[in-house]
Order: sequence, then C-alpha cells, then structure tokens
Amino acid sequence: MIRLGIVGVGKIARDQHLPAIAATPAFRLLAAASRNASVDGIAHYRDIDALLAGGEGVEAVALCTPPQGRHAQARAALLAGRHVFLEKPPGATLSEVEDLAALARAQRRTLFASWHSRYAPAVEPARAWLQGRAIHRVRVDWREDVRVWHPGQDWIFAPGGLGVFDPGINALSIVTRILPRAFFLTGATLDFPLNRQAPIAAELAFIDGEDTVIRASFDFLQSGAQTWDIVVETDGGALRVGRGGSELEIDGVARALPAEAEYRGLYARFAELIAAGESDVDLAPLRHVADAFLRGERRSVEAFEFAAQN
Ligand code: NAP
Repeated sequence: MIRLGIVGVGKIARDQHLPAIAATPAFRLLAAASRNASVDGIAHYRDIDALLAGGEGVEAVALCTPPQGRHAQARAALLAGRHVFLEKPPGATLSEVEDLAALARAQRRTLFASWHSRYAPAVEPARAWLQGRAIHRVRVDWREDVRVWHPGQDWIFAPGGLGVFDPGINALSIVTRILPRAFFLTGATLDFPLNRQAPIAAELAFIDGEDTVIRASFDFLQSGAQTWDIVVETDGGALRVGRGGSELEIDGVARALPAEAEYRGLYARFAELIAAGESDVDLAPLRHVADAFLRGERRSVEAFEFAAQN
C-alpha cells in the first residue's frame, strides 16, 4: 500500500479524487495540504512543505491545485523523493512540465501527468474502431457553463489558468488519443473578456499529414444543455464520442460501454507506474493549447463576472 498525500482540497479533490482513492486498494490517504479546507480523519497541513515534512511518511502526492502553482509543488515533492500525480493541465507552461519530467528521471521517481478524459469509457473503443480507417474530417464541440462547473474560480481566467481551454484541453486529450495520426494547428480565434487574461471562447482549425481537417469549437457560456461531443467522419461511417467520452455511437447507433470510472482508472495507472518505476508525461494536449495562444487571433469580448454585480 502506497502512503498518499493530497494537495489542494477543492472541487475536483472532493468530487473525484477522494472517492477514487478510497476505492483503490493500492493507496492509503494519510494527509492533506490545503489553506482553507481539510479532509476528515487524516492529518492536515497548510502547505505541501509541511505535508512533506510531516510524520505520515507519504510516498506519493496528488496535486489538485490550479495549474499556476503546480511546478513549485511538484518540484518540492520530487526533490523530497516522492512520486507525483498532476491533475490536468499538468502545468502552466510546456517547459515547466518538461523540467519536472527531467527531475523525476534524475530522482528515479514517478511523474504522472494525468488526462482524466482519456479514461472515459468511449475512448479506447473509439481509438480501436478508428485504427486503419480513412478519416475524412473531425468536428469537436465542447460547450459548457463556466458558472456551473467552475463557480467563482477566478484562477481559471488568470494568466496560466487557460480559460475555456481548461475544459477544452479535455477534448484535445481525447482527440490526440483516438486519432491515428498527429495533427497541428493552422489557425484559431480566441475571445478574451475585456476584464480577463484568458479566453472564454475559442475556434480552432488543425490539419494532419494527410490534410484531414479537424475543427474545434470551445465555449464557456453555454446555458441549458451542455455539449461535449467529438464526431469523426470516416470511410466506414461516422463515429461520435458524446458527453465527454461516456457515450459512443457509430452512424447514430449507440454502443454498449462500461460504467464511468475515470479517476479509478487514473489511480490504477498511477499505482502501475510507481510499481514499474516509470513516468507518463504526454504533453500533446497542452502543446495544442500553447500553439493556439501563439498562433490565434485575439478578439476582445464583453467583460465576464461569475456573479451579477449589484
Ligand atoms: P478549485 O475548486 O479552485 O480547487 C483548487 C484548490 O487548490 C482550492 O480549493 C485551493 O484550496 C487550492 N489552491 C492552492 N493554491 C491556490 C490558488 N493560488 N488559487 C486557488 N486555489 C488554490 O479547483 P478545481 O476545480 O478543483 O480544479 C483544480 C484542478 O483540477 C484544475 O487544474 C482543473 O483543471 C482540474 N480539474 C477540475 C475539474 C472540475 O470539474 N472542476 C475536473 C477535472 C480536473 P485552499 O484554498 O484550501 O488551499
């Protein structure tokens, strides 16, 4: 059993990490570090340095904080000889994650840059179905309401918070997993609210080495029904990965899938990596986001506030 600590007890830690850890026999959660929150029944620390120095002897940490602070936390943990699980996105820049990967190698510890959407039930069947098929075009629609899914999370619109790419990168993590070839960005438009440092909507165009066009539309202001869909048109029919990867359809006919267990899958993978003495750091989704910031046309749009101002 691996002694585990968790850092940043916020929405995702409570919604997903705590139940998944409790359901994974390979881990025993012994300590949490969070400035304003604690977890019943385990040791509490104000920050990761105190947790690493604490008496529980944690061997691994899961970082569930916003991406802007992750590098310093992960670096401290790796230097202290701990294995590290990074929530997505793995950092605020590509280079800082590469720095961590090099440090993990030097320290002979596991670094796991997790992409939870890749563990959604439709993803591996979709990848298998697409192998060997000619792909005509790909369409991604990822539209959700930031007020519902990220209430009051100002960090998401701060530099390094990614804005609408915080959910959009989940779509990119699926597409980079299921498509048989790598692809690259050819153009983008990014809509920045006048009072924010990260986009609230984005339109992206990519092609692959065979000129297949991949288009993506990300929106953070979708009210009503939420959309997390990927459609791949092929010579063998149209594949749809729906609802963030929990549905799979071929030509409109639903395929049976196992129940959702993304975070259990992530913790099983983390345990497997630790046992094998390996790391798993795939930067492809974050690279596409960085390219959009490099290449995209910036448009200013109406200011955004989480709650209406009085
Ligand atoms: P959150 O609710 O804001 O929680 C993050 C926690 O990190 C906070 O509660 C805070 O706890 C701590 N923290 C440390 N430094 C912070 C800082 N400078 N600013 C704000 N909080 C800080 O965010 P979340 O939704 O859990 O997201 C965390 C990460 O998980 C993000 O990378 C996100 O992309 C990823 N994720 C989120 C979801 C989701 O549905 N929300 C889904 C999958 C992945 P203390 O104040 O107690 O220190």
